[in-house]
Order: sequence, then structure tokens, then C-alpha cells
Amino acid sequence: MSTAKMIDGKACAAAVKARIKDEAAKMKAETGKVPGLAVVIVGDDPASRIYVNNKRRDCEEVGFVSTEYALDADTKQEDLLALIDKLNADAATDGILVQLPLPKHLDEKSVLYRISPDKDVDAFHPVNVGRIMIGDYRFLPCTPAGVMEMLKYAEISVSGKECVVIGRSNIVGKPMSMLLLHESGTVTICHSRTHNLAEHCRRADILVAAVGVAKLVKGDMVKEGAVVIDVGMNRDENGKLCGDVDFESVATKASYITPVPGGVGPMTRAMLMQNTLTAARLHE
Ligand code: NAP
Repeated sequence: MSTAKMIDGKACAAAVKARIKDEAAKMKAETGKVPGLAVVIVGDDPASRIYVNNKRRDCEEVGFVSTEYALDADTKQEDLLALIDKLNADAATDGILVQLPLPKHLDEKSVLYRISPDKDVDAFHPVNVGRIMIGDYRFLPCTPAGVMEMLKYAEISVSGKECVVIGRSNIVGKPMSMLLLHESGTVTICHSRTHNLAEHCRRADILVAAVGVAKLVKGDMVKEGAVVIDVGMNRDENGKLCGDVDFESVATKASYITPVPGGVGPMTRAMLMQNTLTAARLHE
């Protein structure tokens, strides 16, 4: 019976951000350029406000300029698109992030597709999604990129391994599967229609849960010695933050596990900074 080692997302994110800070300082010294991130928030959703504040703090930490565009909840589609056009044309703006979800009257897709692909630091634009498929990418969606960075940090090789991803969303499950495939994993994608989920999970050397169902993955669904990555962010019956993985029972089986909180979450934030630096290099 193994007791899993924890992959510390906070420590890994601190290492990534320290490297980004050094690289940004070097860029400034050599070219005078400071990476700039524009964050657009529409309305006053409290969770979105927290995410936007965190992004501003991360930018400060690594030496980027962050500019916030806070628009009223009743902002019209054409006004939001006009702001995106302005930011697309602005030389000081390297990355544009529109905080989701948008208010219901706005068409999220056309807003995201309006962002210039070379400023699309969330990697949601079809051009960037297509580039991920081909393996010729500049930006990677932050959460799957963060997971890959954590595997690297823990010196876990993917090549030849059975990888099972639970979840097929466009922002996590699908790109996650593609990145594991690019690293030569043998990838299975599970979703809500999958028969015998536990059976698929038990084959996994690397199991990634990106579902949004609290503690769905139990110890008896995990192979002895597996690496288990928990992307989920849910509330348990007591309102406490928890992942898609039942930590207690899975930790006795896995070789490595990521905690929630303090796992994939901090890495997602760090990878946004990485994408902003990449965008600044593109625009240099
Ligand atoms: P999503 O768009 O709701 O997708 C969830 C996926 O899980 C879907 O593909 C769904 O299948 C599948 N699913 C739902 N119930 C299932 C079940 N019982 N068995 C197997 N598959 C099931 O969610 P998401 O945006 O990918 O996010 C997933 C989780 O990650 C959420 O908890 C979210 O909060 C969290 N998250 C965390 C971070 C972070 O930084 N840590 C970032 C993003 C998301 P169908 O496609 O068949 O419906």
C-alpha cells in the first residue's frame, strides 16, 4: 500500500513565477519592453472579481503591467467588441483576457473570437485551439499547461503511459488529452456517457480528473502507484473547497497526488503569466 507524495502546486507556481520575473526583467533591460496584460471584466460577479484581483497581483509579482477594464453589467455587445478592437491595436497590450462568465445578454463566443490570436493568452481562439491539435502552439490553455508543468516538476514521464482524462470540456479535458498525447501518452478520454468509468480509471498510470463533481474518484477506482491530478474545484457538503478526487482514500493508493486547494489552481494562474510573457516576446 502506497502513501502518495504530494505535488505542491504553490511551490511549483512560485518556481515558475520566479523564472518569469527574471525573464521579464531581462526583457526590460535589453529592449525596454514590459509585458502588459489587459483584463476585461463585465458586471460584478463576486467570484470573477476575486479572479481578476488575483491576476492583478500575479502581474505585480512578476513585474508586468496589468490594466483592468471594468464594464457595467448592461454593457452592449458592440461596445465590448469595440474595446477588444482597441486593445488588439494597442502596442502596450500583449495579452487580452476577458473574464468569464459574461452576463447572459452577451455572446461569449463572438467576444472571445474577436481577440487577436497573438494576444489570446487564454488560448480559447480557434486558431490557437487548432495549433494545439497540430502541436505547433504558442499559447496553451492555462489549466492543462499547468498540469503538464506539475508533471515535469515532479519528474514524472508521460511517454508510453496509460493516461485517463475524465472530462472533455474545451478549456480543460480536450486540450489536456492533446498535451498528454503530444508527450506520447496513450490517452483515454472519459465523460458523462462513459460506461464503467471506474474500470477505465483503474487502468490509468496517470489519471486527470476535470469533472466538477466533488470526490467522484475514490480509492477503489485508482491503480496502486498511479499519479492522480485533481483539477476539480467544488464545495463539499460542509461548503469546504474540495476537488473531484476523494483525497483520503486515493492518497493510500496513488504514488503522487495533487491537493485541492494548493494544487492545479496556483499553476493555472502561473501559466497565464507564462502566456503573457510569450505574447510580449511575439510583439517585441
Ligand atoms: P465542464 O465544462 O462542466 O466539463 C465537465 C466534464 O466532466 C464534461 O466533459 C462532463 O461530461 C464530464 N462529467 C460530468 N459528470 C461526469 C461524471 N459523473 N462522470 C464522468 N464525467 C463526467 O467543466 P470544466 O470547465 O472542464 O471544469 C471541470 C472542473 O475543473 C470544475 O470543477 C472546475 O471548477 C475545475 N476547474 C479548475 C481549474 C483550476 O484552475 N484548478 C480551472 C478550470 C476548471 P459531458 O461532456 O458528457 O457533459
